[in-house]
Amino acid sequence: MSDFHVNPEALRPESRTVHPPLAETTGSRPMGVPLHQGHLFAFETADALVQAHEGPDGAFFYNRYGNPTVRSLEGAVADLEGGTGALATASGMGAITTVLLALLRTGDHVVAQRSLYGGTFALLADLAERRGVTVTLVGGDDPAEVEAALRPETRVLYLETVSNPTTRVTDLPGLIGVAKRAGVPSVVDNTFATPLLCRPIEHGADIVVHSATKYLGGHSDVLAGIAVFADPDLHRRVWQQSLELGATVDPFAAWLTLRGMQTLALRVRRHCDTALDLAGRLSGHPAVAAVHYPGLPAHPDHELARRLLPDGHGGVLAFDLAGGREAARAFTESVRLASLAPSLGGVHSLVLHPASTSHRQLSDEELAAAGVGAGLVRMSVGIEHPEDIWADVEQALAKV
Ligand code: PLP
Repeated sequence: MSDFHVNPEALRPESRTVHPPLAETTGSRPMGVPLHQGHLFAFETADALVQAHEGPDGAFFYNRYGNPTVRSLEGAVADLEGGTGALATASGMGAITTVLLALLRTGDHVVAQRSLYGGTFALLADLAERRGVTVTLVGGDDPAEVEAALRPETRVLYLETVSNPTTRVTDLPGLIGVAKRAGVPSVVDNTFATPLLCRPIEHGADIVVHSATKYLGGHSDVLAGIAVFADPDLHRRVWQQSLELGATVDPFAAWLTLRGMQTLALRVRRHCDTALDLAGRLSGHPAVAAVHYPGLPAHPDHELARRLLPDGHGGVLAFDLAGGREAARAFTESVRLASLAPSLGGVHSLVLHPASTSHRQLSDEELAAAGVGAGLVRMSVGIEHPEDIWADVEQALAKV
C-alpha cells in the first residue's frame, strides 16, 4: 500500500468504517467505493483465466466467484471483525446456509444454542429431517452443558452473541473454549452486537456471520449477509460451497452496505445510548412488568455483558407488558413514530410482538422456555431523538 492511502491498521474501528481498504490506483483515489455492477471480466491470457478460478482471492472473472465492490465489502467487514477474509452473500440466511452446508455432511452432529434466530432454527431442523444431521440444543451460559453435548461426530458449535428477543448474552469465551479444546469449529452470529461492540474471533470463534441487512446496512434498504473467517482454509471451503449454492450478493447491495457502514460507529453509539435510556425509563413504568436489556444491572447477564460488550449493549430491547397479549397488540398498534415491522438494526425505531410473529411457530411450552411471554414486545431502537422516542412509547403505553 502506498503512503497515499491511509493504513487501516493504524486506525480505531470507528475510523476504519469510514476508511475501508480500497483497491490501489495511481495519482488519485475515489472517496467512495466504486460500484462494479458488470458481472463479467475479460482476460489477456488463458493462463490468467485458469488461475482466477482457484480461490476467493483470485482475479475477477465472473461475479459468483468474486467482484471488486463485493470484495471491498468483504475486506471492510473482515477488517472490523479481525478475520483473515470474508464471503458476502445475498442475505444473512445466505451466509448461514452456505457456512453450514460447507461444514456439515450426513451423520454429523451440531451443538447449537436453543434461542436462535427462527430462520437458522428452521435450517437446522431441515438439515436434521432431510439430511441426516443431528442437533443438540444448549443454553448460552453453561460451558459444562456444551462439554456434555459434544460427540466424536460434532462438527459445529453454533451460537449468537445476543439472543432474540430476550437479549440474553452468550458466554462466548466459555462455550467456544470448550469446542476449541475438542477441535470443533465455532460459528457465531454477531448481527445484534456488530463488530463495534463484540468481535467473536477475539474470543476464539472460527466463523462470524451477519445479517448485513440489519446494523451493517443500517437503512432498511438492502438485503445482504456476510461470513468472516479466522482462517483462510475455512474461507476457501465455504467459498467453494458458495459457488454451488449461488447465494451471491449483488454488487449494488454490497455497495449500499458499504455506504451504510460508513456511519456504523455513529449509529451504534446512538442506538446503545438511547436503548439504555429507554430501558431505564420503561423499568419505572406501571404498565411494564419486566424489561430485558443487558445494560440494566437487573439483567441476568449484566456482568457478562460488561466484559463481552464493554462499549455498549446494542439497540434491541424487549419488555413484558403487564396486560399480556391484548396490551402488546394495543401497544404495537398505537406507536406512531416507531413502526410495527419485523427486522431490526436500521435508523428507524421498530416494534414487534414476537409471540405472534417471529416466534409464532413455537408451542406455548417452547415460548415459555424461550422466555417469550404473551405480553412481550421487542423494540429495535432507532436513531431518532431519544425524547421523541420516549414520548411515542409513553403515549402508546397509555393506550394499553
Ligand atoms: N441472524 C439474525 C440474528 C437475524 O435477526 C436475521 C434476520 O432477522 C438473520 C440472521 C437472517 O438475515 P436475513 O434476513 O438478512 O437473511
